[in-house]
Amino acid sequence: MRKPIIAGNWKMNKTAAEAKELICALAPKVKNATCDVVVCVPFTDIALAAELTKGTNIEVGAQNIAWADSGAFTGEISAAMLKEAGATYVIIGHSERRQYFGETDKTVNARLTQALKNGLKPIVCVGEMLAEREGGKTETVCRTQVVGAFEGISAEDAAKVVIAYEPVWAIGTGKTATDEQANETIGYIRSVVKELYGERIAEGMRIQYGGSMNAKNVEGLMAQTQIDGGLIGGASLKSEDFAYIVNAAK
Ligand code: PEP
Repeated sequence: MRKPIIAGNWKMNKTAAEAKELICALAPKVKNATCDVVVCVPFTDIALAAELTKGTNIEVGAQNIAWADSGAFTGEISAAMLKEAGATYVIIGHSERRQYFGETDKTVNARLTQALKNGLKPIVCVGEMLAEREGGKTETVCRTQVVGAFEGISAEDAAKVVIAYEPVWAIGTGKTATDEQANETIGYIRSVVKELYGERIAEGMRIQYGGSMNAKNVEGLMAQTQIDGGLIGGASLKSEDFAYIVNAAK
């Protein structure tokens, strides 16, 4: 049995004061959750979020990680910094980073390697653009991104990774993949993991769906056999909406 994981991706939202308000409202609403609950907050909110979630069932994640230990990498945040601030998870290779900040499969792989080396739990994002889906390239794109991300990663480390399947056309657009589309592609991604690492790792790996997941569609998506949770953007910014999704993920 794979334990579902619901992670909020706040993106570039919530000042520290707003983060405090959201976490304080969220914690009591999700205290009986049976899934893992994570909030991936902006770097500037991590230490505060870690402090506020002490003694709760909410873990704190970052939205990116540097591939180097330290040094001349202006604007980057290292694994040691994330850990000391209190992050336990980190999102890697989100489509917005691929689209706007030049993230490639190679840099995703380097960041993943660094997260694993430092004991952070990675959530690796993969997914196709609309033209790629319409051109019948969904599986090829997901395969390339998964194979690229896991290059040189041992089976022992691979078992610690969560994958988020996020069709780019469904992120922030209000268009969700149908339950069947999401289930089918996640099943395909699992088959790629099986080719790379064998059945045990593939069957144990948690693969989330992400892309306009909300209180209205969570039940249908979570009822699918391959879907082990969600990476939630917009709907993670309101405690009621995010709590509803968390409590529906059984
Ligand atoms: C995301 O940011 O990973 C995401 C899925 O966003 P949204 O839920 O807003 O589509």
